[in-house]
Amino acid sequence: MFEPLLLTAHNPSPMTGDGNNTYLLAETGGSAALIDAGVGEPAHLQAIAGALAERHARLDTVLVTHGHRDHASGAPALAVQHRAAGFAKLPWPEEDAQYAVAWRTIADGDCVSAGGEPLVVLHTPGHSPDHLAFWHQPSRTLFTGDLVVRGSSVMIHSSRGGNLAQYLASLERLLALGPARLLPAHGPIVDDPRVVIAGYISHRLFRERQVEAALRAGRTTVEAIAESIYDGLAPALMPAARENVRAHLEKLADEGRASEAGGHWQP
Ligand SMILES: [Zn+2]
Repeated sequence: MFEPLLLTAHNPSPMTGDGNNTYLLAETGGSAALIDAGVGEPAHLQAIAGALAERHARLDTVLVTHGHRDHASGAPALAVQHRAAGFAKLPWPEEDAQYAVAWRTIADGDCVSAGGEPLVVLHTPGHSPDHLAFWHQPSRTLFTGDLVVRGSSVMIHSSRGGNLAQYLASLERLLALGPARLLPAHGPIVDDPRVVIAGYISHRLFRERQVEAALRAGRTTVEAIAESIYDGLAPALMPAARENVRAHLEKLADEGRASEAGGHWQP
């Protein structure tokens, strides 16, 4: 039975919630793979070492879903403890360079062995340009990185390589696979993927209509649109809300449905 072991990265914060989930796939007496590197917290490193020792397994692969710090920055600490481990991700050169390990490139369509199990690599950009999901077809399990967080909306950092249209296309691609469960990098495991992913897509389309309505009502700046839509939001979350509004406006602009001049937007 395919039972990846969830190991928390021990990095709770306002942006990571309870902290990141990482997943260990280990063959007893054989090889093991970790999905996402965490941040190098000692408690995480200890849990990985303990789980490997219990299974008499050796960590030989670390698959990283994308280059954001909470997923990738633990790579150098893992490299010190696990000399045999290789580190693999889709390149995002300006981000990857800050993590001092020799990254191996994996890309869409590759099939990799993770603790003896086959995983298909899916390029799923939108949250970040380098984002990968990993598909275990025999159990219909998808490792979804930051594409889905149950009970919360996913951040599209439009000023840092995020792209809403790509994000929606990535969600459609996940949906088309017909997964039985999602193992995300934040929050609980999702055992009703169709409902959750379809809910995400319709939520984004709802926001898009709100942004268009705000534009038609004469709000021309990202700030004004964000305030009209996210009225009453905690001030600490407003920067994230503005990033989302910007992501929507850029999608509308790409589709010829809005335009911008000097920081002012119009339909
Ligand atoms: Zn991320």
